[in-house]
Amino acid sequence: MCGIFGYIGHQQALPILVEGLRRLEYRGYDSTGVAVDDGSQVQTHKTVGKVADLKAILPKSVSGTRGIAHTRWATHGGVTQVNTHPHVSADGAIHLVHNGIIENYQHLRRRLSARGIECVSETDSEVLVQMMALELDGGATPLECVQNTLQHLRGTWGLCILFRDHDVLICARNGSPLIIGQGENETFVSSDPHPLTAHTQRVVYLEDGDLAVIERGSFSITTKGGKVEPNITVLEEAWGEADLGDAPHYMYKEIYEQPDALRQCIAGRVDREMGTGRLGGMGLDHAALVQAPHVRLLGCGTAAYAAEIGQMLIEKMGRIPAVTHISSEFRNNDPVINPKAFYLAVSQSGETADTISAVKEIKLKGGQVFGVVNVVGSTIARLCGRGVYIHSGPEQSVASTKAFTNMVAALTIFATQLGRTRHLSKADGRELIQHLQQAPHLMEAYFEDIGPIHEAVELLHDAGSVLFLGRGLSAPVAKEGALKLMELAYIPCLAYPAGEMKHGPIALLEEGSPVVVVAPNDHLKEKTMSALHECKARGAKIILIHEKGDPIGAEGDVSIAVPAIHPWLTPLLTVLPLQLMAYETALKLGRDVDRPRNLAKSVTVE
Ligand code: GLU
Repeated sequence: MCGIFGYIGHQQALPILVEGLRRLEYRGYDSTGVAVDDGSQVQTHKTVGKVADLKAILPKSVSGTRGIAHTRWATHGGVTQVNTHPHVSADGAIHLVHNGIIENYQHLRRRLSARGIECVSETDSEVLVQMMALELDGGATPLECVQNTLQHLRGTWGLCILFRDHDVLICARNGSPLIIGQGENETFVSSDPHPLTAHTQRVVYLEDGDLAVIERGSFSITTKGGKVEPNITVLEEAWGEADLGDAPHYMYKEIYEQPDALRQCIAGRVDREMGTGRLGGMGLDHAALVQAPHVRLLGCGTAAYAAEIGQMLIEKMGRIPAVTHISSEFRNNDPVINPKAFYLAVSQSGETADTISAVKEIKLKGGQVFGVVNVVGSTIARLCGRGVYIHSGPEQSVASTKAFTNMVAALTIFATQLGRTRHLSKADGRELIQHLQQAPHLMEAYFEDIGPIHEAVELLHDAGSVLFLGRGLSAPVAKEGALKLMELAYIPCLAYPAGEMKHGPIALLEEGSPVVVVAPNDHLKEKTMSALHECKARGAKIILIHEKGDPIGAEGDVSIAVPAIHPWLTPLLTVLPLQLMAYETALKLGRDVDRPRNLAKSVTVE
């Protein structure tokens, strides 16, 4: 969600900042701005809209080798030019960009007002720059200005601050990610690793409470206890910008990357001979696996639906209770934590604020949390210290696709590993692993014949609402399909376990209402088909996702076949047509597929 980029070095800052913003665009934002010190003054340019709009209003060249830039996802104050960052102090001496939320900003604003300082924007962020200016006036150094101001704050922040008369940038982190990239006589700041790989592989992830003083060729980090030695991480090449290539959109590209992404996730992590998983990064010994009393999974949105699938597989294979929680609810409900249980925090970005808070709560209460994340070195990965990277590669479309299937695969491998220490037989484990290894190939087979997606789009694009139904493992798949269509096409969608349909949503059905039914060939299919007939009897138009060769294909108004697979692995295939349906419907409606309105890729605020 939103982004920060900063530069101080020997090159012209403006093009580097604009390119940095462009690479952060995928996170989602509504306005953008940049400030560059040209040697005599700090030039600020801002606009509501996209980075391309900012580019269009920039002067031909702004010379200067130090600057800060921001993409804003508004939390406090409308989406207006005045509210766009960077914000500047009344005397022009300090420029600041902020990600996060200052919870006590109204109180701070009143205090400033009492001293005769009025903020010009409606944002929570501006109070910071005005407070720092008071400190600077009082003779504080840039670092002291920031330190003294932070003492008064409640909330979350990633901050990058430019002091006009001091040749440094100051950064601070509390809850919103910030990464420093170290180049040759130049230093970069970014809120995620993607844009940094264009310049350097050597990065330092700031921790909560860290303050960094960044000079042209060096930087130092202080925390409450004094200076800390920076912990340099070398980024993997794979985290560079994924090129769109010939693909029309990132979402399209990422949907079709799923077979390869899945291979990446599985490679080296399964033992076909023993019919089990081998997740080394979880650091689990046999005894811990045997003794775990239960598993709790945490996530938001797509990650929560992948977690629900994982939950069912853990119960099926491990025969221990497993429950999925929405992270924001979990952490606010004073959860009971059992130190012997396993907690799995599922997040593509590893920066999901609600999940981070849940992880902290669990750790505080002595629980063991494992990250199931995509972005290497992200906050959740580091907080947990143990876990499994899902290895999807960069996912740049806001709507998640390949991260979903890889989360499901990683959780499947975990469930197999857990199951094999308990009740899952070698033969059953081997069969499952064998099918899992075939899944990428079966995905490819589906992509060769995607079925009548366009006919489905005809039923969906002008619908007032769409109902998605599934049972068992297909119930979370139905939820994921509904989420995808809703977030991309802005069509209200409901997802229900098929058996629940008659307890409420059936009231919505009328002649022509589209209902998407996910009915793979598992032990629940017959029951799902009853729900399908109940919908049909009320005039609903059925889009049926079924297995190739299954005669139930005749029951749909539009039927889309996916290859047959082990009944515990069906979500890896049944979700594919739902992703394509959402994508194509959004296109037909002229939506911005990769950057749907109001949404952000990395939800770093609560
Ligand atoms: N809360 C700040 C604002 O609304 C920052 C939002 C962001 O993280 O982009 O301006």
